[in-house]
Amino acid sequence: MVQNEYEYIEFLVQSGLQENSAYSYGRYLEAISTHLNIVIGFSTITSDEDVASIIENLSETDLAQNYKNNCGTALRAYLRFVGESEPAYKSPDEIVNPDKYTEGAKKKITVNSYERDNSARNKCIEIHGLNCAVCKMSFKETYGSIGIGFIHVHHIKPLSEINENYVVNPETDLMPVCPNCHAMLHRPKEAISIESLREVYDEKASNN
Ligand SMILES: [Zn+2]
Ligand SMILES: [Zn+2]
Repeated sequence: MVQNEYEYIEFLVQSGLQENSAYSYGRYLEAISTHLNIVIGFSTITSDEDVASIIENLSETDLAQNYKNNCGTALRAYLRFVGESEPAYKSPDEIVNPDKYTEGAKKKITVNSYERDNSARNKCIEIHGLNCAVCKMSFKETYGSIGIGFIHVHHIKPLSEINENYVVNPETDLMPVCPNCHAMLHRPKEAISIESLREVYDEKASNN
């Protein structure tokens, strides 16, 4: 598994790499992860030593030499990416008072953990893009380079439909939203739907 793969690719593009090369870097990292059965992520790629030991383990596999070289390049770029990335932000719906957990609140935390699951997040962004599903704003268009790759991910499945066998589907259960719209979606006791908030938003926007 490669954590934050989409953000990594955006990072590479922002540092001047062609988009198709950036995607192939992502695939090299996936190959490393599969061949060595390791997670490539913020907690596993923290230093030059981590990179060196992975490259050493790779050299013992039967991959072609130039393939191994490319894996090394992609891995070193991932280390730069980790070094320059901000720690994960908190969702606006984080529950602040743990003493007052009810069954519903516990369930809410479980449900919202899907919004912070990096691989589900990345898949959702790959499918739905980086524009807010409610107001359509794009952080890249609004804030330029510092906005690249930024968006919240909202989990739309109602609490009542979640049981322990539930597996999140990033295409149908997750949607990208900006933090403003995300906060509004969660403001009512039961989160409201993307569609109804979009209606409210569109109507207000057309009146202004
Ligand atoms: Zn929005
Ligand atoms: Zn949400």
